[in-house]
Amino acid sequence: MEQTLYSLRMRASRNGQHLTGAERIVPLEQVCEVSARLIERAIQRGAPDDIHCHIESLDPANVLLCALPDLSTLQVPDWQTGRTAARQRLQKAGVSLKAADHAIRLLTDGPVPGGRVMRGAMLIDAASGERLETDLARGVRVSRMDLAPSMSDRLMAKLNLHGLGHHRVREALVLAGKVLSAPGVLAELCWSDDPAYLTGYVAEPVSGYQRILPLKAQGDPRGGRAFFIDRQHCELNRLCHYLEKQVVLFDAMGAIYPPAAWKATE
Ligand code: AMP
Repeated sequence: MEQTLYSLRMRASRNGQHLTGAERIVPLEQVCEVSARLIERAIQRGAPDDIHCHIESLDPANVLLCALPDLSTLQVPDWQTGRTAARQRLQKAGVSLKAADHAIRLLTDGPVPGGRVMRGAMLIDAASGERLETDLARGVRVSRMDLAPSMSDRLMAKLNLHGLGHHRVREALVLAGKVLSAPGVLAELCWSDDPAYLTGYVAEPVSGYQRILPLKAQGDPRGGRAFFIDRQHCELNRLCHYLEKQVVLFDAMGAIYPPAAWKATE
């Protein structure tokens, strides 16, 4: 990677509570436009009283190039069935039922003590279900990842063809891609804390980023992310350093499959 790129990180809060955040990596000529868009997004999310936008140049020698995971969409009749589908997908990826149930319960109740949402993700032991992150209120924030500039337009055109051109899908696919490339992560579970966004996902290395629609009830303001960790093959400090600091750009696409109804027997 020859070109100097910049990491943009936005986070917004109100009354000390996380509202929204975003991570992008762009060339210098896009820094102003993209930061303005991220700040606009924070304002639209609902009168933040604190917006941080951090911009820093990246050393081209430290960029890791990866391929995006495949994308599929599972349609389910209601969010309760969505959670059953998520549980099943997690178990297929090697997560114990106990750990899957614990993570689903935490995301349902709000993972921060007091039922609030986190800025980052929970780390969950994939066997015991124990929480492993040191800061239970903040979690681990995955940063410094994006599509390679050469890929961005091509991927967005492909996502648009499938009616998936929203920034949420792009950003979740990239985040899931970085999480799946991390040492010792078996799977990820996510649903948004946006009360109007009901699609969640399970990501795991074999089937990739599997959107589940719906995975939560309309109007529910709770959500978050859980990364399931294989502790036999993971050193936690190394994992957190990778998730937070390693620069990852995606320069190859995965497959994008049309939506399909989920079957309990899959
Ligand atoms: P969102 O998909 O943006 O609605 O985010 C849903 C939840 O996922 C947030 O409340 C955070 O707990 C978590 N989250 C969002 N972005 C990140 C990130 N970059 N790294 C880790 N967790 C995140």
